[in-house]
Amino acid sequence: MTTTADSLLSVRGLTASVDEKTILHGVNLDVAAGETHVLMGPNGAGKSTLGHLVMGDPAYSVDEGSIFFDGQDVTELSCDKRSRAGLFLSFQAPVEIPGVPLSSFLRATIAGREGLEMKGKQFRRRVTELAGELNMDVSYLNRELGVGFSGGEKKKVEMLQLLLLQPKLAILDETDSGLDVDALGVVSRGMDAYRKQTDGSLLIITHNTRILEHLKVDRVHVMVNGRIVREDDASLIPWIDANGFDTFEREAAAQLEAERAAHEGEPSRDAAIDAVRAAASSLGAGMVQSLRATLDSSGNGCGNADAR
Ligand code: ADP
Ligand code: MG
Repeated sequence: MTTTADSLLSVRGLTASVDEKTILHGVNLDVAAGETHVLMGPNGAGKSTLGHLVMGDPAYSVDEGSIFFDGQDVTELSCDKRSRAGLFLSFQAPVEIPGVPLSSFLRATIAGREGLEMKGKQFRRRVTELAGELNMDVSYLNRELGVGFSGGEKKKVEMLQLLLLQPKLAILDETDSGLDVDALGVVSRGMDAYRKQTDGSLLIITHNTRILEHLKVDRVHVMVNGRIVREDDASLIPWIDANGFDTFEREAAAQLEAERAAHEGEPSRDAAIDAVRAAASSLGAGMVQSLRATLDSSGNGCGNADAR
């Protein structure tokens, strides 16, 4: 299996499950170095699941497909090795460790990392500088990790971690809810500083487009029911703002129906194509192609001949 030549991250045909339940179905997603991508979709679509899988969370299992990162097949690598390879996933719910100050936790995150480890004084200076960039109060660094942190404060910790670790790809899984204007500002500033200081790639998972207002987004991926149903440039964002995910959910239902029909042999294949045509009247050409591709790949030999 090959990856797209200039991809930093390349997710290929990823089918994955948790507790025996299949959540992702043949997901493909590519992010090139230095690009900012957004993964959007309704609640429960599988966005966070994809983030966890890319990061190597052992709670999720890969049933089919592969994950390539920075020229390496990382599908079987531990989370720690992926982190050292340059992957970062923000934690929606950071741990609480009473008695451990935030600064010690941050120091531990870069311990033993080549090129990142620093002496005490240097670390203090760097963290203070970063806190300043994020408009964070320095006294914050002495607080106990996670204890009584608000949603916004947790975001600030994430951004500090991101700027200290300087990963090649940061996957930011937003909670969307509970972020006040202040927290949104910290996240925006953090993403900005990360892009400027490292030229790293971003994959922002969200169903809230407000966070994207000040960002130059290269590509938008829409996920519904564990499938990527649409990919487009940043112009898709205002469209989603205006129309929500309803259209995509209908398209996904049509695609599912088409797949089901395609699995039932020749006569139903016609029905499947009808379903595609019906769906096509309400969607763009790109989606029709992807429906066709699904039909062709899920059908038997004749489907493949058809595709050529
Ligand atoms: P999103 O981030 O798009 O809202 P998720 O990836 O969190 O969606 O969830 C997708 C589906 O996977 C949901 O049905 C959710 O209940 C299920 N799921 C995700 N993680 C787990 C888990 N650790 N255990 C059981 N089910 C899970
Ligand atoms: Mg989620």
